[in-house]
Amino acid sequence: MTTAPPRHGPVANDVGHDLLVGLDVTQRAAVTSDAAPLAILAGAGSGKTRVLTRRIAWLAVNGRIDPQHVLAVTFTRKAAGELVARLARLGVRRQVTAGTFHAIALAQLRRRQTDRDRAMPAILERKARVLVPMLSVKGAEAALRAGELAGEIEWAKARLVGPEGYEAAVAQAHRETPRPAAEVATIYARYEREKRHRGLVDFDDLIWWCADALENDEGFQATQRWRFRHLFVDEFQDVSPAQLRLVRAWLGDRADLCVVGDGDQAIYGFSGADAGYLTRFGRHFPGAGMVRLGANYRSSPQVVAAATAVLRASGADVPAVHAPGADGPPPAVTAYPSDDDEARGVATRIRAGHGPDRPWSSFAVLVRTNAQSAAFEESLRREGVPFRVRGGGRFLERPEVRTALDALAATARRAPARPFADHLTDLVSDAAEAPEERREHVEALARLGREYLAADGGAGSLDGFRAYLDTALRGDGDGDVRTDAVELLTFHRAKGLEFPVVFVTGVERGLVPISHADTPAEVAEERRLLYVAVSRAERELHVSWAEQRTIGLRTYRRTPSPWLAAIEATLPDFVPDPVPARDAGRAARDRLDAARDRKARAARPGAATADFPPPDAELLAALVEWRRNLARASSVPAFVIFHDSTLAAVAGVRPRTREALLALPGIGPVKAERHGDTLLELIGRHVADALRPSPDGHATPD
Ligand code: ATP
Ligand code: MG
Repeated sequence: MTTAPPRHGPVANDVGHDLLVGLDVTQRAAVTSDAAPLAILAGAGSGKTRVLTRRIAWLAVNGRIDPQHVLAVTFTRKAAGELVARLARLGVRRQVTAGTFHAIALAQLRRRQTDRDRAMPAILERKARVLVPMLSVKGAEAALRAGELAGEIEWAKARLVGPEGYEAAVAQAHRETPRPAAEVATIYARYEREKRHRGLVDFDDLIWWCADALENDEGFQATQRWRFRHLFVDEFQDVSPAQLRLVRAWLGDRADLCVVGDGDQAIYGFSGADAGYLTRFGRHFPGAGMVRLGANYRSSPQVVAAATAVLRASGADVPAVHAPGADGPPPAVTAYPSDDDEARGVATRIRAGHGPDRPWSSFAVLVRTNAQSAAFEESLRREGVPFRVRGGGRFLERPEVRTALDALAATARRAPARPFADHLTDLVSDAAEAPEERREHVEALARLGREYLAADGGAGSLDGFRAYLDTALRGDGDGDVRTDAVELLTFHRAKGLEFPVVFVTGVERGLVPISHADTPAEVAEERRLLYVAVSRAERELHVSWAEQRTIGLRTYRRTPSPWLAAIEATLPDFVPDPVPARDAGRAARDRLDAARDRKARAARPGAATADFPPPDAELLAALVEWRRNLARASSVPAFVIFHDSTLAAVAGVRPRTREALLALPGIGPVKAERHGDTLLELIGRHVADALRPSPDGHATPD
C-alpha cells in the first residue's frame, strides 16, 4: 500500500483555507490528499468524520468536485443529515447526496422503476411475516424460530450467499447455526420463492438488486455513474461483501473513492460485515493511498486511557493515543447491588448533573441489549428526566415484545381461569431456549408483569397488565420528539456519536461479552463493542454493573465483565500487583491492601459483604440515621449516599483511617473525599463511647 502524497496543507493557488482551520497536520493531509482511492484510518474520536466532511467541502470550493456529483454513504440516517448540515455550514451550497446504503439503493431503484414505468415492489419490513407461516411450530415458538432464521438469512445475504451456497459458506466460516444448516438452507430457499411469488423485497434485496441493476442494465449504470462521480463512505470497517459489491458497481472502473474507518470499531461481523475491506484496503483497491490520523480530540485523556485499556485487554500491543484535550475526572466505576439500583442510580446521577451548562442532551445511557432499556426508561421517567430511545423503537413497540404479548394473550384466552402469574411463568419457560436477545425481551416483559402483580395486589389479568404497561412505559418518558433529551441507546447504535457524559451500563459477564459469544472472534467483537461504547464519552465516563440482575422471574448473581479490570487499572488510585510492600510506609501498605481487596472483591462480588465481621448494631444505627438526614437534606435517595451493604461493612470493620475506608465495598475516592471525615468521626465517637467504662466497671473490648 502506498502512502498518500505528503501534501501537508494546500498548494499555492488553492482557496478555502478557512476549511483547514481547526485541523492538525495529518488531518490536513487527509483533507487535501489527491490520492484516489484513498483510505483514512484512525481510532475513535480522531476526526475521521470531520475530515470526510471537510474533504468534500475542500474539494468542492477548489472546483475539483461538483457537490451535485457526490455520493456520501453514512451509517445512519442521522449521520447523513448531520453531514449535509455540516457541509451547508461550511459553505457547500449545492446539495450532496448522503444516506445509508439501504436508503440510497432504495432511492435509485425507485427512480429506475419510475423511468421504466413500473411499480416498486412492496418492502417486507420483517422477515418473520413470511417465515412464520412456513414453520411447523406455532405461536411464540414460531416467532422466536423465525427470528433466528431471519438472522441467518441476513448473514448469508450480507455475504452474497444464496440458499444453495449456505451450507458450504457456514462450514467454511465455522459458523454455529441456531438450526441445522441443511434445515436453514431449505427454509431460506422457500423464503426467497415465497417472497418472489408475493412480489415482495426485503431490505437485503435492495443492496443486491441495485448492484445487479448497475452491473446488467447499461442505461441505469450510465445514468447513475454520470450522476455520482465522487464516492465517500464513512465507517468502512462495517461494510459487508454485498455492500462492497454495490460500492464497486457505483464506482465502475473509476478510482474516485474515499473511505474512512477504524478496524478496532468493527462490530457488525456477526451480521456479515468484513473489516478486512478497510484494514487491507490496498489489496482490494490496488494503488490506493492511505492516511493515518493520530490524536483523539473527542475525549479527555482519562477517557482515552480507559478506551485504550479495553483494546489492550486483548493482549495486543496497542500504542498510546495522543489526547490533547483538557483533563477530566477519572472514569467512575460503580458496582450496584442490583439492576434496579443501577437504573435508579444512573437516573439520579443524570438529574443531579443536569444544569445550565449540561442540557439533557449531554447525557447518554448505553446498553448492550435492547431488553436492558426498559429499566432505564422507567427510572428516567420516574425522575422526570426527558429521554429518547434511539433506534429499535420503544420497548412496547419492539417486535419481540409484541410477539410475546400476543402469545400471552393467546394462552390467557385459552385458560381464562388460570392465575395470570402462571401465564407469565409459562411465557418465560417457553422462551428458555431462545437466543439471548429475544429471551431477554420476554424476561423483561415478565419482570414488568411481576411488578404489575405487586402493584395490583390481586390475581391480575391480561387487560390490567396491558393498561399498566401503557401507563408505566409511555407518557412523558416518551421523549422522541424533544430535542433536549437524554439519549438511551445500544452500544451498536452509539457508533460514530459523542456525548459529554456517557453511562456504559451492564458491564457484566453475560452482557459484556454477551453470553452467546462463543468463538474467539465473537468475543473479540464484543471487546471492540465495549471500546466503541467507552469511546463515546467526551468528558465524563461512568461504567457500571449490577451484582444481581433479575431476568424474568429469577434473580441471578452477576460478576463483572472480564474487561472491567482493565478500565479500573487506569484509575489514579489503582495499585497494580505485585508491589513490594516491605519498604513502603504504613500508608502505602494500607493503600496496597485496599487496592488488593478491591480487586479481590471485583473478582467475586457475591462475597463482598460476607467477608466482613458482623456489624456493630449501635454504630450501624448511627450510620443509618446520619445517612437518612443527609439524604433528606440533599433530596437524593439514601442508597445514592451509601448502600446498606456498605454501611454494614463500615459498622463491622470500624475502619480508623481513610485508606481502610477505601478498602470497603461501595467507597471509592469520591465518596471517601465527600464523606470520609464524617464517617471516621462517627466511628471514632462510637469507639470512644464503647471504651468508656460500662456500669459494671469493665471496658468493652474494641
Ligand atoms: P469515531 O471513530 O468515533 O466515528 P471520528 O474519528 O469520526 O470518531 P469525529 O467525530 O470526526 O471523530 O471527531 C471527534 C470530535 O473531535 C468531534 O467533536 C470533532 O469536531 C473534534 N475534532 C476533530 N478534529 C479536531 C481538531 N483538529 N481539533 C479540535 N477538535 C477536533
Ligand atoms: Mg466518525
